[in-house]
Order: sequence, then C-alpha cells, then structure tokens
Amino acid sequence: MGTLVMKFGGLSVGTPTALTQVLSIILHEREKWDKLLVVVSALEGVTDSLIEATRLAQITNRRGYRRIVATLRTRHLALIDHLPLGTTERKALQADVDRLLFDMLDRLQTIADNPTDELSPQVLDSVTGVGERLAARIVAALIRQNTVRAVAIATDTLVVTDDTFGNAVPDMAASCEQITHNLLPMLERRIVPVITGYIGATPDGQLTTLGRGGSDYTATIIGICAGADEVWLWTDVDGMMTTDPRDFENARAIPTMSYEEVGEMAYFGARVLHPRMVGPLQDARIPLRIKNVFKPQQPGTLISETN
Ligand code: ADP
Ligand code: ASP
Ligand code: MG
Repeated sequence: MGTLVMKFGGLSVGTPTALTQVLSIILHEREKWDKLLVVVSALEGVTDSLIEATRLAQITNRRGYRRIVATLRTRHLALIDHLPLGTTERKALQADVDRLLFDMLDRLQTIADNPTDELSPQVLDSVTGVGERLAARIVAALIRQNTVRAVAIATDTLVVTDDTFGNAVPDMAASCEQITHNLLPMLERRIVPVITGYIGATPDGQLTTLGRGGSDYTATIIGICAGADEVWLWTDVDGMMTTDPRDFENARAIPTMSYEEVGEMAYFGARVLHPRMVGPLQDARIPLRIKNVFKPQQPGTLISETN
C-alpha cells in the first residue's frame, strides 16, 4: 500500500519502554506498506548537551566537555544494555557508540586547541548531529534483531543544503537526486532505512543542520524525494493539540487540520512541528499525521488539504 515515512522524535527513542513501542510500530506498519522509511531524532536532551559541550570546548573547558561526553556515553550504553539484543549486535553497537563519541571528542579537542571569541554556527554543526547518528544506529540494530533488514543511514550524503549553518535550507533537486540514487534502491530490497534527522551537508561536504527540531523537516525532504503517500510524526502527545499540553491540562487533540492551520500554529511557536516542514508537504499534497508513540491505536491529527 504505497510508501510511508515515519519520524520518531527524541522522546520516543530515549528509553527502553519507548523503543519497544517504536519497534512494534515499525514492525506493524512494515506489513501494511510496500515501502517504509524511518527518520529518527537524537535521544531527548542530547542535542542540548552537544551544544553545551561545544561551547565548553570553545572556552577551553576541557574537563567540562569531557564530562558531558562521558555522560552521553554512559547514557547510550545503558540504553543499549537494556534492549533485547543478541551478543554480536550489542557488541557492534557498543563499538559504534564508542567510535562516534571518540571522533566527536577529537573534534572538540581541535575546537579547544583553536579558541575563538565566538562559537560559530558552522563549528556547532560539525558536532551536534552526532546525537542523530547514535540514535539511528540503535534503532536499526533493534529492528535487525527482529529479523527485518534495516540499515542506519546518515543524511550528510543525502540532504544537500546551502551554508546557512544552524538553519540550513535544503536544495530539493540535489537532495532528491542523492536520495533517488543512494537510498531508494534499498526499498526495492525491503530494507528499512533508519535515517538521521536534522543533519545535512553543503555540496562540498561541510556538515550543516536544519535548525532545532529539524528532524521533522528531514521527514518532509525524504517524503517528497521518495514520493511518499504519507508522512507520520510520532511524538509524546496525542497529536496537534489546542494548546501546549505541558502548560494546559485541558488541551485537546485536534483530529483534522488543514496545512494552513497547522503551518500557522507551527509558525507561532507550537514546538510539536518544525515551521518549515509543512509548506513543501502541502505543495506535494502529502498528508501528514501526528501520533502518540505510547498510544498508537489513537488516530492522532491528520493534516491534509481536504480539511
Ligand atoms: P519530538 O521529540 O517528538 O520532536 P517535541 O518536543 O519537538 O517532540 O514536540 C512535542 C512537544 O511539543 C510536546 O511534548 C508538547 O509539549 C509540545 N507542544 C507545544 N505546543 C503543542 C501543541 N499545540 N500540540 C501538541 N504539542 C505541543
Ligand atoms: N535533535 C535535534 C534537536 O534537538 C533535532 C530534532 O529533535 O528534531 O533540535
Ligand atoms: Mg521536535
């Protein structure tokens, strides 16, 4: 039944319980769709920690950034320890985490060795995407454990952007070309790609990010280039709500909305959606759903042009 892109936010990949939900959702939807693509964010709070570590490196606070990297390592390894993985998969994943964090530590050391007055968005982008790389590997390993083929894919080779570091604008034609050649053939072989949100790169290979909350935007880019029939965002609330449920207990989920309505809410700061993700989906007429990872049977919010 067509092509589905599902994006899982930081709150859905942060704990073993949430990851169990993610896994069962992926296995369930894989049976229903011909082609399934998964986009993941970093674990909740990881991007903030990475930004903090980079700031500390820039002011040569070596003890500070090393402590953050050590905490990130412990957190990811503890999560892996609690997942139902075989010994080989677990060991490979632990080695992946160590390698990614070791490379990042190296990068932070270079930043600390070359102190500047200000922390540039370019330097930040060279570090902060590592959270998504870690999460993608964890989710891909978990899927593979269930005898479904899955591969973690980093989008620095797929999402081509300009050099507005920290809030980069994708070049859709160039990105779709990369995605068509390097990602879509996997779908024919029934492989589930687990794609990093948030990360892109300039044509000459400098790492960029799509702005805070940018994994939503990655889901849009992948959805358009893959010719998806629907894009679903899985988060920790029941859908697009009348107000932020963290502030108002009586917030209600809105069952259906138009692209314009939801675009306005995102534009005026409802954190649940990246403001730039809606317009391109509207142009491509791809329906968007927002669903609660802890209550997958609930319909959530459907955003389409007919509402
Ligand atoms: P994710 O990690 O899944 O991307 P985010 O934290 O980016 O999650 O977005 C989900 C959060 O957005 C919810 O936990 C909720 O507190 C907040 N939020 C703010 N405004 C709204 C709204 N109108 N409807 C739903 N959630 C909202
Ligand atoms: N991890 C990134 C952030 O915290 C991107 C995202 O969550 O969508 O902003
Ligand atoms: Mg978000």
